[in-house]
Amino acid sequence: MAVSKTIEIHSLTKEMERAGKVVYSLCVGEPDYQPPGQVLTATAKAAELGLTKYTAVTGDGELRAAIAADLKARKQTDYSPEQIVVSNGAKQAVLQALLAVACPGDEVLVPSPYWPSYPDMVKMCQAVPVDVKTSAADGYALTGKALREALTKHPKASSIILCNPSNPTGCVMSEAQLQEVASVLADFPNVVVISDEIYERLTYTEQPHVSFASLPDMFQRTVTINGFSKSHSMTGYRVGYAAAPLYIAKACGKLQSQMTSCASSIAQYAANVALKDVDQKWMAERVGELREKRDLAFRLIQAIPGVKVGLPSGAFYILPDVSSYYGTVTPDGRSVKNSHELCLELLRCEQVALVSGDAFGADDCIRLSYAASTELITESITRLARFLQSLKRK
Ligand code: PLP
Repeated sequence: MAVSKTIEIHSLTKEMERAGKVVYSLCVGEPDYQPPGQVLTATAKAAELGLTKYTAVTGDGELRAAIAADLKARKQTDYSPEQIVVSNGAKQAVLQALLAVACPGDEVLVPSPYWPSYPDMVKMCQAVPVDVKTSAADGYALTGKALREALTKHPKASSIILCNPSNPTGCVMSEAQLQEVASVLADFPNVVVISDEIYERLTYTEQPHVSFASLPDMFQRTVTINGFSKSHSMTGYRVGYAAAPLYIAKACGKLQSQMTSCASSIAQYAANVALKDVDQKWMAERVGELREKRDLAFRLIQAIPGVKVGLPSGAFYILPDVSSYYGTVTPDGRSVKNSHELCLELLRCEQVALVSGDAFGADDCIRLSYAASTELITESITRLARFLQSLKRK
């Protein structure tokens, strides 16, 4: 297993900051705004009410009922509360889902660019991650063709992880694209889909996000992952969940009972309030702000010569291709051969922290998170442009 590279750059940045340097960081995967006021109030109230004990392993009953009702109303998927397993963040929910469905020696398809934790979590199950390439030309959507080829070539594949909207590409797969994936899966009935939809509320598309489990015949073979970290800016609360067919939900619950017992009682109370009391207006305003920041980041990056970039339609990341600058050197003669070296030199020369694409299986690219102030976005990308233009061919 590798140390999570996103976390590695984050800690390096913190180290530089502790040493008194200003670092312009567009690394982290969390919104830069506060959770809704009702959530903050509920957090204190939960403690006052004495909700300080273990909850049921799979989560407080009221919260699971609220999640089931929310998924039914917004995603048209009909889960019972028993099919919901609330965990310490979606990260734990993904790992438990994988441990539940992937046996040692199985293969797990991971479309790339991918969230870095997926391949390492697959390895934790003693299963083998299989990289299924998606391309910028297809907007990084997984195509039926690529999926069929991968499943045909890898008969040991027992599951696939879909990340929709995607971290790091920002791709939101349309209903038609998901349908194409589903129609290929119809020919491979034993393959389970882990559909990580943690960014589903943060989309900028005309059409609403479609949950994979809502497609015909997919409900019984899909584990839906979601949570409160991104939608309600509650990353530190650590509340995520899996919604799954009962036999998988039970396996996840069993795993959780031996790993962490339950998610924080106080955070679960706050999550319930987030679902019940936070209005659409709050969410729409946040999404509107993120869309403006996406547009700003896209405009600034698009203007840098030699950089290729597409307009992301969800989450809060943008993944420009900077590979035309590989094979160059910095003004002081240090080589820039790949995304890792580029990000290191960028940090050294311009104090800008980004995540190198190799962490996501996309070495041609670098990832910027635009869930930041407009000043920080502008300053960081201005410095990135200056850095790239300072590079010289050897
Ligand atoms: N899935 C994806 C695609 C993510 O990007 C993240 C966080 O960055 C997670 C899951 C984990 O979220 P949580 O904070 O709920 O554990």
